[in-house]
Amino acid sequence: MTAPSPAPTTTPSETFSFPTRGTLLGDAEAAAVAEIIGSPDRLTQGVWRDRFEQQFREYAGARHAISVTSGTVALETAIRLLDLRPGDQVVVTPQTFQATIQPLLDSPAEVVFCDVEPGTLNLDPAALDAVVTDRTAAVILVHYGGLPARMTEITAIARRHGAVVIEDCAHALGARHRGRRPGALADIGCFSFHGTKALTTLGEGGMITLDRDDWAERLDRVRSNDADYRSLPYAGPDPEPALLPWMRYSDDIYRRTCTRWHRAGTNATLSEAAAAVGVVQLGRLPELTARRRAVATRLDAATASFPLVRTHRPHPGDEHAHHLYTCFVDAPVIRERLVRTLHTHGVEVQLRYFPLHLTPEWRARGHHRGECPAAERSWFDHQVNLPCPPSLTDRQADRLASVLHDCLTLAHRI
Ligand SMILES: *Cc1c(COP(=O)(O)O)cnc(C)c1O
Repeated sequence: MTAPSPAPTTTPSETFSFPTRGTLLGDAEAAAVAEIIGSPDRLTQGVWRDRFEQQFREYAGARHAISVTSGTVALETAIRLLDLRPGDQVVVTPQTFQATIQPLLDSPAEVVFCDVEPGTLNLDPAALDAVVTDRTAAVILVHYGGLPARMTEITAIARRHGAVVIEDCAHALGARHRGRRPGALADIGCFSFHGTKALTTLGEGGMITLDRDDWAERLDRVRSNDADYRSLPYAGPDPEPALLPWMRYSDDIYRRTCTRWHRAGTNATLSEAAAAVGVVQLGRLPELTARRRAVATRLDAATASFPLVRTHRPHPGDEHAHHLYTCFVDAPVIRERLVRTLHTHGVEVQLRYFPLHLTPEWRARGHHRGECPAAERSWFDHQVNLPCPPSLTDRQADRLASVLHDCLTLAHRI
């Protein structure tokens, strides 16, 4: 870990950073926003949200798609559906962004971290089989970096124990697993349209996909302050202390005035402008995914002559969305040198994600080193994440690939 970093042969003429935007925005998105500003129609809960949700349902292949204001809110409201109680367990991946499991910090349920596969960094079905019990209420996984997890095995194991499976699809827009889209491969899918993701609804936004009608109805209420408009019409003569005399003259007025709020809800309504941009972006998703793939393919090719480097390959028949570009260097000393060399050559390297069970808040809850060995080995010794945004041109992608190749060559020299 203390090897000196080779000096750059030249000062970097071009730098490659993780982008502040994960997508491309253009005239079509601007026109959609301008149309809403210029129209007298409502700015929220209007036709654009319906349109976006309908198109997203069709895209994902789910019966329901319910938009919310962020991926975090999607996960939070999905977890709320589970009505977790003391004694319940929730099995989670440690290899994800903290928002996947953050709502569980306040939960009465016990969080069980399950190790990942070293080649994909996705939840390992064998490890899941070893930790799941009849107390497991839910399994929460992520399709790491956009590479689909082994959903067939994972859902089969979860079903045997009656556990709900939640897919965090924040990286998986554009991916496919055995011909189907993430978000419709288990019980609930949660998407993020944050500005760094493959598709954005003007910076923030999210979506929940699911098939169950009762859950969809509850989610729809929860995101709108949990308002219940289904109160029975006034039956008279005077059982309601809250009822004012004039309300008795109209069932309609009564119904609208006497909305009930049974429990805590929130307002997570995606604005019309955000939804309209979502509609345009969803239409461009194939083009955006193809751009990411063009970059990733070049980077993979740059590693091909280095036997110690493994690429992040999807399972046969699956399609990677390339939210993150990931590769693994089997020799820790060379990984260390590669990271430093890339840095001095103007390429930003990130190691995503620090295993969550080792962060202070989860350590304080009793989690420790050794709990998820594959996730730990990957972060401490092997993995490298490089930028692969759709904004790179083919020429820029070629240059990034050639810098990677040169840095790998330098890192191998002792
Ligand atoms: C971005 C992200 C989230 C959170 O989404 P926001 O829209 O930023 O709240 C959740 N999980 C993963 C894996 C993410 O990358």
